Parts: sequence; C-alpha cells; structure tokens
Amino acid sequence: MRVGFIGIGAMGRHMSGHVLEAGYDLTVHDLRKEAAAGVLAKGAKWANTPKEIAENCEVVLTSLPGPPEVEAVVYGANGLSAGWKKGDIYVDMSTNSPTTIRKVAEVAKTKAVAVLDAPVSGGTRGAESKRLTIMVGGDATTLEKVHEILAAIGDKIFYVGDIGCGNIAKLVNNFIGLTCGAINAEGFVLGAKAGIDIRKLREIVRVSTGSNYNLEYSMPQILQGNFEPGFRVSLGLKDLGLALALAKECGVPTPVGAAVEQRYLEAKAAGLGDKGTQSIILRLEELAGIKVRASEGK
Ligand code: NAD
Repeated sequence: MRVGFIGIGAMGRHMSGHVLEAGYDLTVHDLRKEAAAGVLAKGAKWANTPKEIAENCEVVLTSLPGPPEVEAVVYGANGLSAGWKKGDIYVDMSTNSPTTIRKVAEVAKTKAVAVLDAPVSGGTRGAESKRLTIMVGGDATTLEKVHEILAAIGDKIFYVGDIGCGNIAKLVNNFIGLTCGAINAEGFVLGAKAGIDIRKLREIVRVSTGSNYNLEYSMPQILQGNFEPGFRVSLGLKDLGLALALAKECGVPTPVGAAVEQRYLEAKAAGLGDKGTQSIILRLEELAGIKVRASEGK
C-alpha cells in the first residue's frame, strides 16, 4: 500500500519512520525538506506538494501543528484535495479542531474520500517508542482498513465515535494534562519556597492523592533544568484555546481552564513559545525568587 505522510516534525519524524519500517511504500512532505532528512535516508520518497502525495498514495497521514496548517495542506492550491482520487483515505493525526476536521470530511465525501481524525498522546517519547495512544473518530470500517498502519505507530488505539470525536477526547485529555502541569508548577514552587526538599516532595506526591502523569515526565526535566521541547508551549496554548472554544460551543463553564490558559500565554509572552511546556514554571520561579532544581536547596 502506498502511504503518504505530511508534517515531519517532532512527532511526525518518528511516526513516519515507523510506517516505513512496517514495510509500507512511504512518500513524505514538509514545508522544510531538511526536517525529513532522517526518514528520506531510510528509504522514504519525497514529494514537493501535498497534491503530489494525494495523487500517488492511497492513504495519507498528517501530523501538523493545528487547524490553519491542516486547512493549508488540504485546501491550498497544491493541496491534498486537488489530488484526491475516489477511495482514498485521509487520516489527520494532528491535534485539531473537531469543527475543522468535520468540514474537511464533508469536502472529502464529495470526492468519495474517507476521513478519520486520529490525534495522539504520549509525547515525543511515545512517538519514538511506538507507544502512543491514538484516539480515532470517523467511520469504523475505514479505521479497520488503516488499523495496521496505525498499529505501527501506537499501541493503544481507541475508536471514539463519529468524525471529530477523536479530537474531542484528545482536547479534553490535554485540557486536564496541561492543567496538571500548571498546578504542579505552583505546588512545587510553593514547596521549595516554604523550605522542603523538592525531590522528597516529588517522591511523596507520586504515591499520594496529588499524583499525575506530568510528575513522571515533566517534573524530572524541571529538576534537571531541561526546558527543551518535547511539546512546545505554543502547541499547548493552541490545545487549550481549542478546548476552551469547544467548551463555549457546548455551553460548559471552564473557569479553571481559562486561568490555566493565561499561565501558558504568560510563558509565550515571555518568549518561551518554542520551549517545552515544562518551562511555564520559569516565570513563577522568578516571581517567588526560588528555583525548583535537584541541585538547589535541601
Ligand atoms: P512540530 O511543529 O514539531 O511539527 C510540525 C511539522 O509540520 C513541522 O515540521 C512543520 O514544518 C510542518 N508543517 C507546518 N505547516 C506545514 C504545511 N503547511 N505543509 C507541510 N508541512 C507543514 O509539531 P509536533 O510537536 O510534531 O506536533 C504535531 C502535532 O501533534 C500537533 O498537532 C501537536 O499538537 C500534536 N502532538 C504533539 C505532541 C508533542 O509532544 N510534541 C504530543 C502529542 C500530540
């Protein structure tokens, strides 16, 4: 089967590599050809445009930053929709707006092309080790056709419901995960300022009622002073914005989430947009006059 992959970034470079290793005939595209150097060296083919990918592949996967980039790749002058053939399958693995992907699916349907939304969770670590969670929305029989490809990328595949439902699950997940990151930052700055050993604090919270996933992966990076991405602040902010927009659409009040969005906005305003989401703690540390580092304090 000929498979296309567009968006060879922090996630896509690992995901596309796994598709190639699983034995598929892979063609890739990105705005930056240099981003694809690794997968091209392993034997993938290069396409100059999304249209070229659609013309030459039966299944196309994308891992793009968000709604504007997905729209550009689908509807642009040399976009996927200009090259779609009857029976093609398009799987968007970006964290996207449910509304955007539903519209894409409507346009695709007029060309007899099936669309799935299949956003992922597990970070670059999960992408590298093929241990992503994949949340799928769309037609279940279409999922069956591409299940083997997705299984090369992630080990936890959930069918959620109609098109857009994969992103609803993903946005709620990130809404919760990013909120944990924000409250961990406040809690650990407080613990450090109040004078306790923060390594011991982490050991305690990990096995107590405050335990959360973020403590396992982001807190060790903070303790080591590593603020490189992983998952960029600007992408976290995009996800919070999409989750809050969904909440407004559904009439669900989310005052805590709205405050959390401000924390990530603050980090972006401070020039940290391309740093990892763990860097939201830096401004708090500055305000409190204390650092949450393994090398500092007690
Ligand atoms: P990234 O910015 O590293 O990669 C995106 C890639 O898309 C880049 O290489 C960029 O050049 C390319 N791109 C942008 N616009 C394009 C266009 N118009 N045409 C072709 N290529 C284009 O982002 P990422 O961290 O790999 O994230 C990708 C998606 O996965 C996002 O939706 C993100 O929210 C989601 N996600 C990321 C993580 C993570 O830990 N990084 C985890 C889970 C989900």
